[in-house]
Amino acid sequence: MKSDSCLFCRILTGEIPSTKVYEDEYVFAFRDINPQAPVHVLVVPKEHICCADAVDESNSVYVAKCFEAIAKIAAAEGLENGYRVINNCGEDGGQTVMHLHFHLIGGIRLSDKVV
Ligand code: 5GP
Ligand code: ZN
Repeated sequence: MKSDSCLFCRILTGEIPSTKVYEDEYVFAFRDINPQAPVHVLVVPKEHICCADAVDESNSVYVAKCFEAIAKIAAAEGLENGYRVINNCGEDGGQTVMHLHFHLIGGIRLSDKVV
């Protein structure tokens, strides 16, 4: 299921270009347009799931596949010293694109931990 009005669905179809770093049956990953670290990859399910709030037993395989992909991408990007995975959910969480995604950030010693 894709949404015509969703930015990341339009990236998934190729309508909007992106710099792909990984793809499989469930997952697409590409570089963030405004990177916050030397490595900043967005890991996105190929199903339009709006946010963490909408994950349930019908679609949670996409979340598992995202994390399988994150481990592969981290290795491919040379992040053997560690990295951070972030999901922003909803208005209070600061989510700006309403298609579930995980920020994979690394390549530098990260500061400003919230937790
Ligand atoms: P959020 O704030 O929803 O957690 O994250 C959305 C992310 O999408 C931001 O880090 C932003 O830089 C990124 N982004 C927004 N528009 C585009 C785009 O057109 N292409 C790419 N590659 N990233 C985008
Ligand atoms: Zn979407």
